[in-house]
Amino acid sequence: MNHPSESLPVLVIVVPCYKEEAVLPETHRRLSALLDTMIAAGEADASSYILYVNDGSRDQTWPLICRLHDEEKYACGLNLAANVGHQNALMAGLETVKERCDVAVSIDADLQDDVEAIRAMVASYKQGHDIVYGVRQERTTDTFFKRTTALAFYRLMQRMGVNVVYNHADFRLMSRRALQYLCRFRERNLFLRGLIPLVGYQTDVVKYNRAKRFAGESKYPLRKMLNFAIDGITSFSVKPVRMIFWIGCLFVLVALGVVLWTLHAYFMHQTIPGWASLMISIWLVGGVILIALGIVGEYVGKIYIEVKDRPRYNVEELLMRGEQAEKR
Ligand code: UDP
Ligand code: MG
Repeated sequence: MNHPSESLPVLVIVVPCYKEEAVLPETHRRLSALLDTMIAAGEADASSYILYVNDGSRDQTWPLICRLHDEEKYACGLNLAANVGHQNALMAGLETVKERCDVAVSIDADLQDDVEAIRAMVASYKQGHDIVYGVRQERTTDTFFKRTTALAFYRLMQRMGVNVVYNHADFRLMSRRALQYLCRFRERNLFLRGLIPLVGYQTDVVKYNRAKRFAGESKYPLRKMLNFAIDGITSFSVKPVRMIFWIGCLFVLVALGVVLWTLHAYFMHQTIPGWASLMISIWLVGGVILIALGIVGEYVGKIYIEVKDRPRYNVEELLMRGEQAEKR
């Protein structure tokens, strides 16, 4: 067992909110009801709370959070001065609570994720899992468009060698030590779903059914989704660059075929002057340029990995003679 089981875990629920005035009161009602039940059932410490992160929205979201903080139990708030996007807002919340909790659960404000699943996540944490992924069982409530684009997204990520959990968005539980390790990733292009599997530790999955957005509308139109996918791939994989190299090799192969074909045509006198040399050089030079680009790309890829300055490893335990065993 990794966790002190004697004391109850202080649970914090982190909720990024961007223009969510329409759903926030209901979100808080449900989340605080959940905390009530969990505390009463002895599943979470009484000092557990909810952190709403206002991602620079200029509508009533922040005043609402302030009101909740003044009048209601559990509600806390973090106000970001400008809109920085879902991933950064979530990270801001997680960094804020990393010393102020035992476990953090992140969940969207729009009530699409089943809040009851949080109980199962905490139960799984108590069994020794540091990261518990919330995974959607079925997507019948999503539109056809959202379903197919999402599926394509996971497929593409997998192809590109990015390790992501299928049908898992940003609904997950992380233990304090997992959070602390996550916060050591200093990269600007955040793609949390790809980063979390790099943390390690024992992980688990909790399945739930995804509901419709309670109110308001999705902040992820197609344009943002595409950007998200491109971000995910380019922050994790140098495969696209490597592809240039292989395409270059393919071009050179084609060029060899073209050479044979051109010479054949040339000697059969089926050509006009200049055609043969042009034909050969276009393919050959094109291939060589692509290979050269791919080689340069390999170096750029290395620089890019270095620049991200990711932590190299995560120590879970150290056993030494004559010293206190060290456990993170
Ligand atoms: N969100 C945010 N900043 C943004 C866009 C969205 O904090 O710039 C929050 C939003 O309030 C919600 C979550 O991120 O809590 C997910 O957004 P949304 O539900 O619109 O995305 P979808 O579920 O449609 O993918
Ligand atoms: Mg949503």
